[in-house]
Formats: sequence, structure tokens, C-alpha cells
Amino acid sequence: MYQAFIGLEIHIQLLTKTKAFCGCRPEFGDEPNSNICPVCMGYPGALPSLNIEAVRMGCITARTLNCIIPEKTWFERKQYFYPDLSRNYQITQLASSIGQRGYIDIEGNIGGKHIKKRLRIKECHIEEDTAKMIHTGAVSLVDYNRAGVPLLEIVTEPDMETGEEAELFIQRLRRLVRYLSVCDGNMEEGSLRADANVSVNFPGMGPGKKVEIKNLNSSRYVKLGINHEIARHAALMDAGETAEPETRLWNEKRSETVPMRRKENSADYRYHTEYDLPVLHLDEAFIKSVDDAIPELPHERAGRIAEEYGITMEQADLICGEKALAGYFEDAVTESIKIDSELTKKRAAPLIANWLLQDIKYILGRENIALRDISTFRLNPPRLASLAVMTAAGKITGKNARQCMEIAAAEDKDPPQIVKERGWELICDPQIIARAADAVIVAEAKAVTELKAAETSEKQRQTLITYLVGKVLAATGGMADPKIAADVIKVKVRGQEGEFPQVSFKTL
Ligand SMILES: [Zn+2]
Repeated sequence: MYQAFIGLEIHIQLLTKTKAFCGCRPEFGDEPNSNICPVCMGYPGALPSLNIEAVRMGCITARTLNCIIPEKTWFERKQYFYPDLSRNYQITQLASSIGQRGYIDIEGNIGGKHIKKRLRIKECHIEEDTAKMIHTGAVSLVDYNRAGVPLLEIVTEPDMETGEEAELFIQRLRRLVRYLSVCDGNMEEGSLRADANVSVNFPGMGPGKKVEIKNLNSSRYVKLGINHEIARHAALMDAGETAEPETRLWNEKRSETVPMRRKENSADYRYHTEYDLPVLHLDEAFIKSVDDAIPELPHERAGRIAEEYGITMEQADLICGEKALAGYFEDAVTESIKIDSELTKKRAAPLIANWLLQDIKYILGRENIALRDISTFRLNPPRLASLAVMTAAGKITGKNARQCMEIAAAEDKDPPQIVKERGWELICDPQIIARAADAVIVAEAKAVTELKAAETSEKQRQTLITYLVGKVLAATGGMADPKIAADVIKVKVRGQEGEFPQVSFKTL
């Protein structure tokens, strides 16, 4: 058996309004080479000016990853030639990264086993993105729109041991940066990119030679690429060989990693100070503004929601997977508390959680509304709240509640109005139910006699009551509240006709 050491390097594209060192728009997918200027094209004499918003977003992320932020920070030039880097150097950070020595906790199920682990973050630094190259046959095209877009590179220590742990890390980080509104987390479009360093050695020997895997554009590929690489190293070691340090690419069609190039080390890049940008002093007031901008984080929010509203941790986790969804849930619960706080705690809140994760997700998917755009959904939180309270109170059936969601979404109407129009309100008036029950008792004399008989078992009695309640429901066109109908039947058969004081007929 061998031991694997996995570290990740994640690049997240920061959601600033302009690029890192010029005023160009950082839009993805615009007309190629339309968002460019002398600075991001690296023309002679053009000077960069720092976008402080990129530093602020980088610091917000770094603080959330429990990193230390240095008092002074500056930039370096990383020098190399490639057509996607017209200046021949990239502005990045080496010696004074804005986030240092942090950690993130991951938790989840791997192979049926629950794991909880703290992963160390080595550092996070700000750098500019390069241009995008498009290779078409014999021609290569360059789109400089992406050149100069601000990135935050997050580097972990080699604390992970399996592809599954790396997948959990990516999922947690992705949720976090989306919550912080610093990155949209879209791995397919490349706004969150992951490279993995894999090293396999004999137990107790520490990390060996590193292989880097690139082109991992989904959290699943991160898992598959790493696990493939671990297996490849192990097979080489079984044969008495070791893996060469190199950069490899994940080939999704062949489900394997393939060699790309020899691995460079940082000395190859001849880093030196970027003297066109000043040293930044991150004072207390700046750090405070960063800390003030950090919202309640998703795992904290899930814990609080589960506890406060009596839903499972699993449900709370799913709801908090998307910030807008968590907001919608809490708004709906708050609205239903205004209608009936007791009922909400007991039944309406879990009902809202269930509906949200099943029926509403289904309707949104069908209507092509992304979860993050749930605020545009016609079945808004107050409407869902009124529906949940009516259902929890037994005023309408669960089946009609579901139909009501569909109608509210399609016709832009309030649920109480829909219920009224369709005549879906269950009959809760005991006098009306009693009249129907009287007729049933006369028509079903045999069942009633049997129910009254001393030798009838408790089980038989239950069956008979269910049978008679069914008849009462049928007589009211299915609109009598089944619970009240059962109570009425029991009272009547016991011969206590007239008043129904024992039955609770809460007027709703
Ligand atoms: Zn520019």
C-alpha cells in the first residue's frame, strides 16, 4: 500500500466590474478582442492601476478561508513567453500573498463512511488572467478579452488523500465563493478552474515527486483525474519505477491523464517585483470593512435553519446550497409565522422545506427558472406561506395544495383565492358533517351494529370507522375534513348525540 498526497490550485474569477489593472469590462463571451485597451494588451508605456475591488473580494475570500492577511502586500512579475500573454509577464503575487496559512473544514460521505477533515490552505493570491486561445486546425486564434481579468488563486497544502476528498473540497469552496458573491463558480465556463498536484509515496516517507493535472473542468473530473493518477503511480511503483514530475492533462473521452509538458518550478519564471504598482498597506479600517462584508456562511446557516425550523440537516444543507433558495425558504417561513406561529413550527416549516426541494424545484426546472433567480417566481414566499398554513391546518388536502402551486405559478394568483374559486376548502363545520353522518348511520346499520358489539376487536373497530368515514367523505363530495368526520362518527356511534363538545373544531 502507498500513501497519496493531493494539493489543489484553484483559480476563481472575481466578479469585479472592471479588469484587475485597467478599466475594461471583464465579460465572458463578448465579441472577441472588443474589451481591450493598451494596458491589458501590454503596449509599451501603458501603466497598470490596481482595481481595489479585486483586493477587497480576494481578502473577503481569504478571511472566510481563515487566512491571515498581511499588513503590507505587493505584486510580482512572473516572466514567460506565450501568445496569450502579450506583455511577456503576468502580474501576480509571490512573497506577500493577500491570504496566508488558513484552513477549510470538509464533511461528507465517502464510500458509505462519514468523514470530517480540516484541510490547510497554504495561501491565496491575486493575479491577472491570460488571453484565451482557440485552436482550430492549423490556425490558433487569440481573444484578449480575458487578459487582465482578476483571479484569486487558492493553493492548498497536500492534505487530501483521495479524489473524493478533493471533490468535496471543490464543492464546498464553490458554494462558499458563490455565497460571498465573489465568483459565479461556473466550472464549465472556466470561472472556477482546478489543477491538482498528485504525489504517491511509501507510507511515512512524505510527498514524493509531484505530477500536476490540468483541464479538470468539473468537480467530478477532479475526482476521476486524481484517482486515475494515483492508480498510475501505484502501478509504476509496483514495477519498481517512479512517476516523472510533469504536467498532464485530463482526457475526458479516454478517462485518463495524458502527458502535456515537463513541470516548471518557480525559479524558471524569474519572478521580480512589479515596480509599476505601489505597496499596499491593508490597515485596520480596511480589514474591518472586509469582515463586515462577510455574510452568514452556508454551513452556519444550514445548522441554524435546521435547529430553528425543525427540518433535517440534510434538507437544510440542500436549501443552503443556493443563497437565493435559502433566502426564499426563510422568507416563506417568516411569512407563515405571521399567520400562525404555533402551526408553522410544528408543521408548516417542514412542509415548506419538502415542497421546496421537490415540487417547487420541479416546477422551476420545467419553467426554466434557475434557482438563483427564484425571486422572479410567481409563487412568491407570502403565497407559499399561506398555502403551507392552510395545508398544515387541514383546510385543504396535500393533493390540492400541489395543484394550487401550479395554478399560482401559471396564473399569478394568491392561493386563498384559488382555493375559494375551485371550492377546495375542506368542510370543517361539525353540523354539516353530522348531517351527512346521520344519513350514513341509517344506511349502514349493519356496520354500525357491528361497531357497537362488545365482541368486536379494536382492530375491526378501526376498519369499520375507516369504512364509515369513507362513506361520510363520499356523501360530502370528498370535501369533509377526514379527522372531524372520524370524530363525529365515534361520538355518534357511542350514542352521545346532540352536542359535540369533545371534538375540537378550531375555526381556521
Ligand atoms: Zn484593458
